[in-house]
Amino acid sequence: MSKKEVEIFNESFKDLIYEITEDNKNSISIIECLLKGKITDEEISEDIELRLNVVRRILYNLYDAGLVNYKRSKDPETQWYTYNWKLEKENIVKTVMDKYESPFEEIKGSLVYEDNMFFACVNGHIFNFEEASKYNFICPDCNKPLNYQDNSFLIAELKKEIMDSNEKFKE
Ligand SMILES: [Zn+2]
Repeated sequence: MSKKEVEIFNESFKDLIYEITEDNKNSISIIECLLKGKITDEEISEDIELRLNVVRRILYNLYDAGLVNYKRSKDPETQWYTYNWKLEKENIVKTVMDKYESPFEEIKGSLVYEDNMFFACVNGHIFNFEEASKYNFICPDCNKPLNYQDNSFLIAELKKEIMDSNEKFKE
């Protein structure tokens, strides 16, 4: 990855963690612990001086999102369970990439869409021919007539947007 891509990755990763746990400071500390090889809830809790129940809540949130996994083992003496956590690194990268990719994919998707004939009302609700004819060329959202749109300008705009996004991947 280029320096720029690493920056984008890190930013997207932080956004993702916030979405999942709503607590970036503690979540990132926990992830750093796992990277350092502190793998039980108790070790992590001690290392970053954070209450055990908070550590567990965050770990379970990350687990639900598929970013960490655990192995449970029973202590033969105390009969207590120990949870050994590990990062699902591949999943983390994949999840971040997907998340970052999606606005980009959306642009590409709409470009294919706009290559067809399309119809719009004055309020900017857009439909392809099939949809527009199904609604008898009346916008189902606002009841205004749907008119044929010359899409060459829009396509040019979208192409420019994609070029700009591609530009961000370079360096
Ligand atoms: Zn409309």
